[in-house]
Amino acid sequence: MFVDPLAIAGVKSIVAIASGKGGVGKSTTAVNLAAALAQSGQRVGILDADIYGPSLPMLMGINEKPGVSADKKLIPIEKFGIQCFSIGFMIAPNTPMIWRGPMIQGALKQMLKDVLWQDVDILLIDMPPGTGDVQLTLVQQTRMAGAIIVSTPQDIALIDARKGLEMFRKVDVPVLGIIENMSIFHCPHCGKASEIFSHGGARHEAELCQVPFLGEIPLYLPIRTGSDSGIPLVVASPQTPEAESYKAIAQKIIISLAQKDGAPKAPVISTT
Ligand code: ADP
Repeated sequence: MFVDPLAIAGVKSIVAIASGKGGVGKSTTAVNLAAALAQSGQRVGILDADIYGPSLPMLMGINEKPGVSADKKLIPIEKFGIQCFSIGFMIAPNTPMIWRGPMIQGALKQMLKDVLWQDVDILLIDMPPGTGDVQLTLVQQTRMAGAIIVSTPQDIALIDARKGLEMFRKVDVPVLGIIENMSIFHCPHCGKASEIFSHGGARHEAELCQVPFLGEIPLYLPIRTGSDSGIPLVVASPQTPEAESYKAIAQKIIISLAQKDGAPKAPVISTT
C-alpha cells in the first residue's frame, strides 16, 4: 500500500490556519474553529506550530506535559474534545525560544512526525505568522488539504495576508478562504456598532484574490476573556451569535474538505 511520506499518521486532512501578521487573532480563531468542528462531530486535532510564541497552552488552559508512548511518540493532550499539541507543553512559560535554524527545523520535524494523533479527521495547524523559513518547512513537509488566512479588515494587515495567501498558492496548497477577525464592534453599553479596525476589507481582498470569503468574527470582549481564561468562546458560550459565526465557518470548512479526496464525515447542519 502506498504511504504518502508527507502525510501525518492518524490524520485525514491537514488545514493550516495562517496570517500575515501576528496579533490579528489567528490562534484565537484556530481554537474556536477547532471547538466548533468538534461540536459538529468531527475528530479534531490542533497543532500549535508557532514555535516562537506558542499560545495553545494558555488558550486551552493546559498546564500539563504530554505523555510519551512505549514507542517514544508524544501523546497529544485532549481538552474540550480536541487533541492538542504545542511546543509550549514542553517548555516553561516565559522561556524564550532562542534556537537557531537547524534546531527549529528539528523541532518542527519532530512535531510533524512524532505526535501520536488518534483518528483525527481534521488537524488544524496554527502557523507562525508570516512567510519565512519555518512556514515554508511546514507547508513543504506536510500534505495540506488547504489553508485559511485570518486577517483584520484594515489595509496594513491585508497587505501581509495577501503575501501569506500567495505563499500557499506557490506551493500548491489550496486556499480554502479568508476570515475577517475583529470585524465590527458592538458597544455593550449603547449597542452602537463601530468599525474599529475598519470593516469589509477581508471580503474585498477575498474577491480580489478569487478565494472564498469564509465569514466575519466581531471584536467581542468575551472572545478575549475566553482566550485569557483558557476556555474558548465556542466552549464557554456556544449559543452566542459570535460563537455561531465560528460554527458557520466550521461548516464551510467541512463542506470544502468533503469536496476533496480523503474527505471527513459529512457535515452536520445545525438547525438551532
Ligand atoms: P495571533 O495568533 O494572530 O497572534 P491571538 O489569537 O493571540 O493573535 O490574539 C491576539 C489578542 O486578540 C488576544 O488577546 C486575543 O484574545 C484577542 N482577540 C483575538 N480575536 C479577538 C476577537 N474577535 N475579539 C476580541 N479579542 C480578540
